[in-house]
Amino acid sequence: MATAAAGTGLRGIIFNIQRFSTSDGPGVRTTVFLKGCSNECEWCHNPESIRRAPQLQVYLDRCIGCGRCVVACEHDGQHLEDGVRQYDRDVCVGCGRCAAECFSGALEICGREMTVDEVVAEAVKDEPYFRHSGGGVTFSGGDPVLYTDFLRQLLIACRERRLHVAVDTAGNYPWRLLESLLPHLDLVMYDVKILDPALHQRYIGNDGTRIRDNLERLTATGCPLIVRTPVIGGVNDTEEEIDGIARLIGGHEGLLYYELLPYHALGDAKLTSLGLALNGKFTTPDPTRLQALADVARRYVREVRPHAPKAITKP
Ligand code: SF4
Ligand code: SF4
Repeated sequence: MATAAAGTGLRGIIFNIQRFSTSDGPGVRTTVFLKGCSNECEWCHNPESIRRAPQLQVYLDRCIGCGRCVVACEHDGQHLEDGVRQYDRDVCVGCGRCAAECFSGALEICGREMTVDEVVAEAVKDEPYFRHSGGGVTFSGGDPVLYTDFLRQLLIACRERRLHVAVDTAGNYPWRLLESLLPHLDLVMYDVKILDPALHQRYIGNDGTRIRDNLERLTATGCPLIVRTPVIGGVNDTEEEIDGIARLIGGHEGLLYYELLPYHALGDAKLTSLGLALNGKFTTPDPTRLQALADVARRYVREVRPHAPKAITKP
């Protein structure tokens, strides 16, 4: 069924649609991941989500040397050198022609343009499960709020079907963007990673002022809210940081709970596939440490959920 939002011509770059997610809001959910973020977290476990444009991911160990990608590429991005296939990221435009010809899985294009109706058609496939579990659709990223107009149409289209809708956001944008979406949202999941401005600048690429200001405005609206902190060993796994964040969000009417999500190095294979260097300097906090930090947060927040060390919710 076409939605009322159809015909707007709006499109977004989607890099994953994950069904049966149980960690991106209440109940069983479908999570739609939009590509592009305004933060640059050094530990990002989804490095493919940071740039907005589609990107080619290369898994060298899967290449069988058939050469089909070389024929497919019009930009000389794939070529043979002494019979060995080589990839030149500098000339690649991310068109994905080579990946379409690669049957071994060595080349994958991350991100494809989709319309509102295409996304909604995928997102509603599990509608019966949403109804039974109290779930719905979560828009994540990257940061989906950066696609403000496209996201608004997605939210409206989902709401037309009476689906519960949530957004998972990193908060680094002008307040008016999120403000304009609030009338169409049932829940905001808001990441607060670091409070200390110098640390924020060092690891995330900005001092976090806008993120904190937007959180303050958001809590003032009373909107249902879940705050999440990825706990990164060696960065923010300190009492000072968690105490500061919990103090900031504690006591707000809309806050449902506060989640502590332990860092996991699952992003390493993706970094390699994108030709990026491994950082290797972050560690996963152990369960005892997470419990201790959760206890710190409980001084201010009624419900704190420390997660077991495993993959953070995004793919
Ligand atoms: S198409 Fe795939 S398997 Fe064949 S040479 Fe290119 S990367 Fe390797
Ligand atoms: S994504 Fe397109 S430009 Fe890049 S290497 Fe493949 S075919 Fe060439």
